[in-house]
Amino acid sequence: MSLIINLAYFAAAVLFIVGLKQMSSPTTARPGIMWAGVGMVLATLVTFVHPEVSGGVNYTLIVLGIVIGGGLAWWSGKKVAMTDMPQMIALYNGMGGGAAAGIGAIYLLQATPESVTNTGLAIATTGSLIGAVAFSGSLVAYAKLQGLMKKTFHFPGQQVVNIAIFAITVILGFMLATGGGEIGSATLLLFFVLSLAFGILMTLPIGGADMPVVISLYNALTGLAVGLKGIVLDNPALMIAGIVVGAAGTLLTQLMAKAMNRPIKNILFSQFGGSSGGAEEAIEGTMKEIQANDAGIMMAFAEKVIIVPGYGMAVAQAQHKIWEFTQLLQKRGVDVKFAIHPVAGRMPGHMNVLLAEAGVPYDIIFDLDEINEEFKTADVAMVIGANDVVNPVARTNPDSPIYGMPILNADQAHNVICVKRGKGSGFSGIENHLFYADNNQMLYGDGQKVAAELVASVKALG
Ligand code: NDP
Repeated sequence: MSLIINLAYFAAAVLFIVGLKQMSSPTTARPGIMWAGVGMVLATLVTFVHPEVSGGVNYTLIVLGIVIGGGLAWWSGKKVAMTDMPQMIALYNGMGGGAAAGIGAIYLLQATPESVTNTGLAIATTGSLIGAVAFSGSLVAYAKLQGLMKKTFHFPGQQVVNIAIFAITVILGFMLATGGGEIGSATLLLFFVLSLAFGILMTLPIGGADMPVVISLYNALTGLAVGLKGIVLDNPALMIAGIVVGAAGTLLTQLMAKAMNRPIKNILFSQFGGSSGGAEEAIEGTMKEIQANDAGIMMAFAEKVIIVPGYGMAVAQAQHKIWEFTQLLQKRGVDVKFAIHPVAGRMPGHMNVLLAEAGVPYDIIFDLDEINEEFKTADVAMVIGANDVVNPVARTNPDSPIYGMPILNADQAHNVICVKRGKGSGFSGIENHLFYADNNQMLYGDGQKVAAELVASVKALG
């Protein structure tokens, strides 16, 4: 029996890895998710017949938990809008961290000098600390992204309080790890309360443009916590799933931090990106307006047009109309390219997914590094529903919360057209200097409506 169980866990682990590999490309991502899901179902089913599980547990409660949890996840996953995906991911992440911390709590609570080793206790304590921090931190990230609380929260001496709480938590953790299973439940309770508090306090000041990196970091921490629980429970599927998530999350965090030119320690400890802006630079110039018909004609007679999509294109679901507009331009011989910023939209790859859904071929979609030099040679850069990712203040104002983040050089095109509904700021809450530039014109309106008008204007040219 144990051979069959281990083989099944091995098969599940292979499925996780195959799934993850397939997720690296938009064309194979969907089957990748399916394979990883099949692996998860297999690992869950096999656990029911695991000798350590079978017999001694309340199956009714487990099945009830799976049905309620699975049902809620299915319902919320189906219902969630693409633009709300980051908070959804933060929530699911948090649940993983919370589950790992819960397993750790039970293990530590039931520990007796006979049943545990100090190594086991150390691993359980470390996993519990990481899981609890990922849980409470992810819930704060969820609340911020969902608009349930302020994006940033500061109080005097915040850093000192955070360090003190972390230090006490580590001391308590050390006591638990070396106590041979004889530490009282009051210490255990305090350890968990402080771990959760640390996760909350660490996330409170982080805001604005740094949120994607933080969510990805908590994802990595959850993976690590789950992997450590796999070691504690001697469960290979849990170990491998945790390690895969932890490694993938760590790589993604590093890639995003690099793309945003933010050392991770700055994001977590410097309150960088946390305020609504230091001294805002005085803005010169005025916003000039253009009508859709004129914008359409300008692009129809251009040689090269670069389209910069952002969060607003996702809200407006304008991708299909934009692709129709692109095809009309291409028929007229215009060279059209799409420029994607690594944090455009509300999740990594958000814009790529939308454009793929609309049928835009990958060979006209370019990452920031690949296309940034080309803006200089573009007749028109059309920015649709993007804001922070084209804000030149990131280059010029060291006091700005987005200073240092590489941006798409849309401002360097001969002409810029920015499509948005009004004068509202972007996710980071700061004014965009591009909107006031001499070569920029604002095309006001909902993204989809404007895109339809652009299509009509080019069609009218015959
Ligand atoms: P922003 O959120 O900075 O700006 C989006 C703009 O779209 C707004 O200024 C808004 O202006 C406009 N808009 C909203 N709805 C519509 C609509 N229906 N039609 C037309 N325009 C609309 O978007 P960016 O993509 O430039 O930047 C992404 C931001 O999100 C970055 O700060 C990033 O750090 C952050 N973020 C990214 C994540 C990721 O992983 N990609 C995750 C979490 C946050 P108006 O209201 O005037 O229409």
